[in-house]
Amino acid sequence: MESDLLLDVKSELGEGPSWDSRDGVLYWVDIFRGLVHRYSPDEPKDEGFQAGQYVSSVVPSRSGGVVVTLQHGFYALKLGGQPTRIAEVEGGLTGNRFNDGKCDPHGRLWAGTMDLEEKRPLGALYVLEKGGSVRKVFGKVTVSNGLGWSPDHRTMYYIDTPTKLVRAFDYSDSTGETTNGRTAVDMSGQPGFPDGMAVDAEGMLWVAHWGGWRVTRFDPRNGKALVHVDIPASQVTSCCFGGKRLDQLYVTTAKAGIGPEETAKGSPAGGLFRIETGVRGLDTFIFDD
Ligand code: CA
Repeated sequence: MESDLLLDVKSELGEGPSWDSRDGVLYWVDIFRGLVHRYSPDEPKDEGFQAGQYVSSVVPSRSGGVVVTLQHGFYALKLGGQPTRIAEVEGGLTGNRFNDGKCDPHGRLWAGTMDLEEKRPLGALYVLEKGGSVRKVFGKVTVSNGLGWSPDHRTMYYIDTPTKLVRAFDYSDSTGETTNGRTAVDMSGQPGFPDGMAVDAEGMLWVAHWGGWRVTRFDPRNGKALVHVDIPASQVTSCCFGGKRLDQLYVTTAKAGIGPEETAKGSPAGGLFRIETGVRGLDTFIFDD
């Protein structure tokens, strides 16, 4: 398997891809530039919309438009318009910002925060319910990142990047409760750090390696790496399945944190990539607003 460079856009911190199968478009963000991107592969065309501050994740919503996480809260956004606040967390604590977010099969939006310095466990994982109430799931998170759910909707996966672990929890789709946390994949022997992830229809996890030049498919039942795909950019941030057959993996990358070998002209760092996986992925779940 190989990766194709789709957009050589040199994102500072490309992130948070989600697929909207209703329109056949990919949403993604550049956190540091405050941009929400909408990529239409059929044309192909990419449009950027300024959110005015850090925007760390974007998900399609049932009523149309998208929901984004800005520095301290959840906001509804009609592309091209101004974000409308749904809820804020942490009372505007200045040393944190929101990071990765994703909807569960029930349509709740899960998103976590992180220490801007990426050192202290000051962040937490939150879930936004239909109607706009927010529940804190747990704290003591340093860099909240990848989220995913198993095809049977009974397990949730979660990454706090510096731990180098993918954790699994028993998950109740009806209540959104998570219990029985344990390690699913230990990535301490792997290059870089686990960042965003996607789940395929066979229940395998595709994890982006921040600082590791690759995406790896893991079996969460035994923690084993099955296959990896090289990406010609070190800072691989997240991935998401899309396409008509949901067998294409869209991969975001960043320029932030690159070394001297990537500052040379011609480096695709910060580009949007795509991998033909030959495996069907799970569709992006939509926020039920
Ligand atoms: Ca991330």
